[in-house]
Amino acid sequence: MAKNRILSERTTADIDRRVAKVLDGLGNPEPPLELSDVRQLLRLDRQFYTADDTGAVRETVSRIKVATVQIYERPKLLLEAIRKMSLKALYLPDQRRILLDENEPKLKHRWNEGHEIGHSLLPWHHDVMLGDNGFTLSHDCHDQIETEANYAAGQLLFLQGRFANEALDLAPTLDNVKELKGTFGNTFSTTLYRFVELRGREVPMVGMISAHPHQSRRPANFDPAKPCRHFIQSPAFADQFSRQSEVEVFRTIASYCGSQGGGPLGESELILTDDNGAQHRFFFETFFNRYDALTLGSYLKPEPIKICGSASIF
Ligand SMILES: [Zn+2]
Repeated sequence: MAKNRILSERTTADIDRRVAKVLDGLGNPEPPLELSDVRQLLRLDRQFYTADDTGAVRETVSRIKVATVQIYERPKLLLEAIRKMSLKALYLPDQRRILLDENEPKLKHRWNEGHEIGHSLLPWHHDVMLGDNGFTLSHDCHDQIETEANYAAGQLLFLQGRFANEALDLAPTLDNVKELKGTFGNTFSTTLYRFVELRGREVPMVGMISAHPHQSRRPANFDPAKPCRHFIQSPAFADQFSRQSEVEVFRTIASYCGSQGGGPLGESELILTDDNGAQHRFFFETFFNRYDALTLGSYLKPEPIKICGSASIF
């Protein structure tokens, strides 16, 4: 399931406080946030590696082996994890070191680094990441801490209230999301994610990051049961439309998307059914940035209930 997990209020409030302390320590800077300043403030170290050249990692982990007996097995685990699970980034709490895969697209480095800074800010993550079992290093299977680190990254890279203030003043359109992407220096996808989460607190809003929805442009390995990378439900959407599946939403998006190779793919008003069976009208639009299709669906109004009268003459 690609649906986003919604964190508890207590957890988000705790993460918010920790991120606020960092931004405060930097004098609440203007966007875009310089990650080198964050590393300096938090005394974090950053290193790059590539899957075929793990020299940097090997050097790092050999030092861990000497320094801490109880994690003797980690060098092997770490190298295995990087290779087998194609880890894109990781954080070593005992060394305050962030490791990033250099082969990842440059655009993604910033988010990956923000995510690892997120782990570094949340002390309850450190024990989990330092544990002895291999599972603790498997980035992908630890949903809760991954969601928390992503939330912290979002708070940091979008300067908390600063993004909220700007986003809440704007109409919910992809053009406006693109403008915010420029201001804050983050990717289109992460900006869309943050926009839907914030702008859709009270009013239902949904986002999707997927392959090109048009039949003729779908990749060979397209799986109709898992049509998207992210199905972003805003808090109000998750509350009222929890039965909407990503498969259904993708199908409706595909119904209006053209086969263009880039740029806007189309827009349409669509009807979605809420958990009580009532119908509501949304405005959907989709943009293809040549890697991902980004879709934003925002609430318009409830659909009038249709009463089916019969013209029976009996
Ligand atoms: Zn992580």
